[in-house]
Amino acid sequence: MDGRGYKAYKEIGGQWSFQSFSLTIDHVQGDPFAAPSRVRVRLPAQVAGFPVEVCDPVARATGVACLLSRRFSGEAGRIRGSGSGKSGQIRIESTEQKVIPTTAIRIESSGDLEARFTVGLPARGRTILGRQAAELLCDAVPSLIARTLTSGAYDEEKLHLHAEVNEDAEALRAALASKGLVAFVADGSVLPRRSGVDDRPLRGDGVVPFRSPASLRVSLEAPNAGWVAGMGIRRGVTLIVGGGYHGKSTLLRAVQSGIYNHRPGDGREQVVSDPAAVKIRAEDGRSVRRVDISAFIQGLPGGSDTRRFSTDNASGSTSQAATIIEALEAGARLLLIDEDTAATNFMIRDRRMQALVPRDREPITPLIDRIGELHTEKGVSSLLALGGSGDYLDVADTVIAMTRYEAEDISDRAHQVALDFPTGRIAEVPGGVEVQGRRVPLADSLDPSRGRRSVHLKAHGRDEILFGTTPIDLSAVEQVVSWAQAGTLAQALLLARNEFMDGKRSIPEILDGVMEAVEESGLDILSDRFPGDLVAFRRFELAAALNRLRTLKVR
Ligand code: ADP
Ligand code: MG
Repeated sequence: MDGRGYKAYKEIGGQWSFQSFSLTIDHVQGDPFAAPSRVRVRLPAQVAGFPVEVCDPVARATGVACLLSRRFSGEAGRIRGSGSGKSGQIRIESTEQKVIPTTAIRIESSGDLEARFTVGLPARGRTILGRQAAELLCDAVPSLIARTLTSGAYDEEKLHLHAEVNEDAEALRAALASKGLVAFVADGSVLPRRSGVDDRPLRGDGVVPFRSPASLRVSLEAPNAGWVAGMGIRRGVTLIVGGGYHGKSTLLRAVQSGIYNHRPGDGREQVVSDPAAVKIRAEDGRSVRRVDISAFIQGLPGGSDTRRFSTDNASGSTSQAATIIEALEAGARLLLIDEDTAATNFMIRDRRMQALVPRDREPITPLIDRIGELHTEKGVSSLLALGGSGDYLDVADTVIAMTRYEAEDISDRAHQVALDFPTGRIAEVPGGVEVQGRRVPLADSLDPSRGRRSVHLKAHGRDEILFGTTPIDLSAVEQVVSWAQAGTLAQALLLARNEFMDGKRSIPEILDGVMEAVEESGLDILSDRFPGDLVAFRRFELAAALNRLRTLKVR
């Protein structure tokens, strides 16, 4: 094909047999600047050679698969193509610090292995560089496979470590509920990250490894590590208090990441939280569709009914109220809130404000008056990082102080302070937290088409999905981890629309439908094109994406 026009590459689509593996080209790009070609390789167990104990059970295989995709990604990044556009580039999805199932690399319990990645077929201008393509596909790719996807390329110890650490994380998380815990932070964990945009662990002499206060220390059993000691965060209302810059948000962020597993050496591989932990923050400007926020907001100026609150431009407090109710609707059991990103008037109205602005002129019932009831009536716990609103001491079960990154249990002192310095606040409680009524989304309000294409889905980085022509802003949905996961959520929204939005099912029923389908058939149910960039996701982030779709209509 050397020297021919780029379109001639279409002929190489399909399956090819190499000596020890098969390679399928599922999609051939239309030109060197388009999305690169999609490739799948399959290695039988005897070629991949991974010992059976790292392939089974699935938690072990996932730990190893993530190691392989990181290694593949690193090695592939070193292959320099020359030519136009994406010529010669090989890319694979890697979840970096996190260990999350993806379609990039799958190790089956039999030991068979499949990897999916993309290749930029080389060209100069739009003229095929045939010799380079041959070298890339017949030399570089096989060599890359041998160096990254076969057991011979790894220390056996390293393989076991990655398998076992991931299996342990699953076991630690599974152990939380029976101990009455919502989160666990093992002693010795390293929580701070290198920077706001670098998820790797902070290094250096200044790093203080986590140590549990004695009164909160529990031990959980893991199949490989044995008994692991650390801080157990119990059900109920827990505060993280302390001076500015003493590590409050860092601890909270570790807990919010604890819904995912982490690679060995990350520092958070033994930090686990309730899988139904949801980060809540204020997000002014977001849209809201018929959400019952009356537990928090009543009697807005203009008289809009807060039992069916809709807006295209929520305020800080109404957005935070809606985000909480939507999370509860989706089944959240732990709310994570950081004062840094919360709306102050949603969190607290102190005695003086109560005196100055009478109750009948303030639509907001602040969270402080609901948080205890959320736990006792609804079984929903909260973990709050606070520095400013001491009124919360009245409603806290446990108070953890962070002082120079050291955790201390000051619950008793905090309760004494609450008695010694009564706030004089009057609880503002007009009714209970009602269960959100059934919201039934209408499929017609989700339009995935753009121009002549009936389906156009895309993620623009981690923060934004494009569903048809409608952007969905995910920047405040902090537990979305990556660009690829955002893209996966877009696909999941389409499945939700096509298969489950029948005008009768409510949002939680639709979430059940999608999650069960993925559970049963794997992520590939989201696409018939064998993409390598589908990343496992939770119902909460799917709900968050749906709830932020500005065209959404619900009955
Ligand atoms: P706060 O929320 O209390 O104001 P942060 O959690 O934002 O504080 O932490 C302040 C700074 O301290 C951050 O730069 C963070 O990376 C760093 N930090 C947090 N925990 C540790 C620790 N255990 N060891 C070293 N540095 C830390
Ligand atoms: Mg902070």
